[in-house]
Amino acid sequence: MVGAGLAGLQSVAALRRHGYPGPVTLLGAEGLPPYDRPPLSKELLTRTEPLWLAEDLAVDVGSLVDDLRLADPAVRLEPGREEVTVETASGSRVTAGAVVLAYGSEPVLPPGWEAASVLHTAADAAALRTVLAPGLRLVIVGAGWIGAEVAGVAAGAGAEVTVVEAASTPLERQLGSFVGSRLAAWYDAAGVTLVTGVPVSTVQRGPGGDVLVSLADGRELAADVVLAAVGARPASDWLRGTLPLDARGGLRVNRAGRLMGMASPRESAGRLHIDALRRVWAVGDAATREHPVFGPVPGGHWSAALQDPDLTVRALLGIDVRAAEPQHVRSRLGLEPVPLHAPYVFSKQLGHDLALFGVPSPFDEVALRDGAPGARGTTPWAALYLESALDRHRRTTPEGHRIATVRAVLLVDSPREVAAVRKLMNRDAPLEIDLDKALDPTVRLKDAAL
Ligand SMILES: Cc1cc2nc3c(=O)[nH]c(=O)nc-3n(C[C@H](O)[C@H](O)[C@H](O)COP(=O)(O)OP(=O)(O)OC[C@H]3O[C@@H](n4cnc5c(N)ncnc54)[C@H](O)[C@@H]3O)c2cc1C
Repeated sequence: MVGAGLAGLQSVAALRRHGYPGPVTLLGAEGLPPYDRPPLSKELLTRTEPLWLAEDLAVDVGSLVDDLRLADPAVRLEPGREEVTVETASGSRVTAGAVVLAYGSEPVLPPGWEAASVLHTAADAAALRTVLAPGLRLVIVGAGWIGAEVAGVAAGAGAEVTVVEAASTPLERQLGSFVGSRLAAWYDAAGVTLVTGVPVSTVQRGPGGDVLVSLADGRELAADVVLAAVGARPASDWLRGTLPLDARGGLRVNRAGRLMGMASPRESAGRLHIDALRRVWAVGDAATREHPVFGPVPGGHWSAALQDPDLTVRALLGIDVRAAEPQHVRSRLGLEPVPLHAPYVFSKQLGHDLALFGVPSPFDEVALRDGAPGARGTTPWAALYLESALDRHRRTTPEGHRIATVRAVLLVDSPREVAAVRKLMNRDAPLEIDLDKALDPTVRLKDAAL
């Protein structure tokens, strides 16, 4: 097991739960037992110790693993036809029948940004917590999920926060500019200055000790601390040339977590023997996993790291050799359906709760559903990402209502809808809705599903 995070821990727990009696080695890189990352930004100031997964999930990794090495990362992989060998940073070699790659992701830090910090580990959170104080000049580069979460927490603690975003709105890449422009107003309301539409060129320490953020339009911002929150990518550099990686550095796996095909027959990584490939599995942020509705889904979802290892381990142990088959094939074979989870992201940012199910595409048509102001002073709303732009033949219900196919649902400050929408989206066929009903805020979204 390579990686002592959520996906690694869940994989080890699944191995034992499904009765695997053999030896397990778990390699970690941070020197810490598994902990949860989402609170690092959301509860940056209120949670001063990591949220240990041993407590949160009641899984004690020490009792499940024979050889636990929390600070000896894998540096080389030798996938062979008979066995797979992992070389570690300390120079030892671990040989096994199979390897599960659960090494997660690492934050992107562009060249020339040497004076910027990142927020990815418990150590990063501790360092940021130490300096966060009223009056601190904090520049956050990137108005994505993590940038927005930290901006809200820091502004709430009295810091002077500026967020610089290259796109024209917050979360534009993830949610599109139409929805992003709705989120922009939250920054002002939370006392955060938002600068959009201009990329950052460099983040360097100035002669007077300030950190200087140079923008592409020639402006310069002086700060005490600069946080780069411009995304993460799989921590797979050590596998380059050994395994086929996709453009982001992810491992393309099927629904069960088994490595898929080859990147290119001309690359050595693409010429691995099938018996060697068979020994390699990937879960969590390391993987780009095939989903029957959403296609290849890149890692980065906490819920996938929590849920996917169970199926992967059942396939690895041979308990469910048809784990990757589509549901209709499984039912023909008399097999139980595999539980399906739509990609899910949750966020608490600038005083608002967000839940995103599915994968929005920039080509989707977005339909807004505005609710009435709630008791907590927030107004619930939802954005439905619809494939109808590609629907040349307009379909209607017998009542004459428009039918739309939903690719994603973003729920904002709508806690009452979350469980029902999760259930609607966790299916093996695209969700079809009665759009006229769905846009009526007096109708529950679940009652608009067809
Ligand atoms: C600040 C923050 C907030 C987040 N908030 C949300 C959220 O609100 N919602 C959401 O869905 N997701 C969120 N995420 C993403 C979520 O935390 C990840 O999807 C999840 O942690 C993935 O689990 P994982 O086990 O695959 O990877 P990780 O949790 O990254 O664990 C992988 C572990 O492997 C170790 N490792 C790396 N390389 C090696 C190696 N070569 N050998 C051995 N070990 C190695 C790493 O150090 C790490 O400890 C957030 C992430 C961060 C950083």
